[in-house]
Amino acid sequence: MFDKILIANRGEIALRVIRAAREMGIRSVAVHSTADADAMHVRMADESVCIGPPSSAQSYLHIPSIIAACEVTGAQAIHPGYGFLSENAGFVQIVEDHGLTFIGPRAEHIRIMGDKITAKDTMKNLGVPCVPGSDGGVPSLEDAKRIGAEIGYPVIIKATAGGGGRGMKVAKNDGEMERAFHSARSEAKAAFGNDEVYIEKYLTTPRHVEIQVFGDGKGGAVHLGERDCSLQRRHQKVFEEAPGPAITPELRARIGKTCADAVAAINYAGAGTIEFLYENGEFYFIEMNTRLQVEHPVTEAIFGVDLVREQIRVAEGYPLSFTQDDLTINGHAIEVRINAERLPDFAPRPGRITHYHAPGGLGVRMDSALYDGYSIPPYYDSLIGKLIVHGRDRPEALARLDRALGELIVDGVENTVPLFDALLQEPDIQSGNYNIHWLEAWLEKNL
Ligand code: ADP
Repeated sequence: MFDKILIANRGEIALRVIRAAREMGIRSVAVHSTADADAMHVRMADESVCIGPPSSAQSYLHIPSIIAACEVTGAQAIHPGYGFLSENAGFVQIVEDHGLTFIGPRAEHIRIMGDKITAKDTMKNLGVPCVPGSDGGVPSLEDAKRIGAEIGYPVIIKATAGGGGRGMKVAKNDGEMERAFHSARSEAKAAFGNDEVYIEKYLTTPRHVEIQVFGDGKGGAVHLGERDCSLQRRHQKVFEEAPGPAITPELRARIGKTCADAVAAINYAGAGTIEFLYENGEFYFIEMNTRLQVEHPVTEAIFGVDLVREQIRVAEGYPLSFTQDDLTINGHAIEVRINAERLPDFAPRPGRITHYHAPGGLGVRMDSALYDGYSIPPYYDSLIGKLIVHGRDRPEALARLDRALGELIVDGVENTVPLFDALLQEPDIQSGNYNIHWLEAWLEKNL
């Protein structure tokens, strides 16, 4: 059992982990940059350590400072949250070399899934359906054109090391391949220091449907259904729901079992998400995220489980606290991501929060590190809150979201709340009839 854990993150996800730890009787250590000295996670943790200047590279990504913070506070384990070091296999190795526990999967699994070509290969061999595409990396334009002709246009060129929607370019025909291929490669090189790309069939009307899995690290695993995260801008999710409006219980049981069996087969430990595109009744694997996702609360809401508590327990060596049969879906949940961004161009708008009031009441959860008078620093991502609602069914969740958005006050910085007010008026949102392109098309027309 841990008595003290360190959270190598900031913002709402740091609070999320501190809360789970406190309920488990575990003390928490916050780390922070000088820019975050007044941040909520610092106030809420039992202890805090300043680990460096504002830039992430010198603080939240600076491994020696984080390890040193563990040593001085006596923390036995590190929860990485999402982003930052959460999918850095080298970090996991260093943590373990110092006799500390990483609350997450083994380095080996992070490494496999962090390289998208290896990930696809591994999943294919485990019986998971994948998007048709190149067998591995595509080194030259000639190869790219040959593969384009073989699998048929449109195709999408993607970075092997990709993440955050970067290094992805679509080619609609042979003529567009040259530009798309070179720009995907240079974007990949700039973002990830690795210009290897691969090619996939570009699906034209899919939904993004992802399966939450949980492994015990000893060959046991369960799935916790799906989340539909099709509402995206620039391949970034803005609105997520569970269960997915297009997924039947039969489809869920089938793809869920495929995913649970796959992660069980590799002795995966902890939380993971297997992402698919879903079109015409078929699932196509695109990637696996070996961490807790931003949108995990919608799954927690409908299954009534605490995924962070479960992560900590598995890291402590306990078996899973639920079996597949224990996991039944109750109602419907929706999350909206509130970003400090100006509409319509989504430019970041850091600044001082003059007034903050969180919504409440039945079925409402607000995960946010905001408070009155807080100054959002300009150095990190623009997510300032997640509003999660839970209802007995989808219409109730939508009505509750509308009601909760009406109660929420975030004054002082421009933010994305008006986007959700507008989206809720849309018949397609009301009916759940959308795919991964819906939001971009809507933004084009309406903002
Ligand atoms: P990242 O790791 O950068 O987030 P993903 O592989 O998870 O990249 O893809 C992110 C999003 O890009 C998907 O949710 C989907 O909207 C779009 N996308 C990825 N692959 C394809 C594809 N083969 N066809 C159509 N859209 C795709």
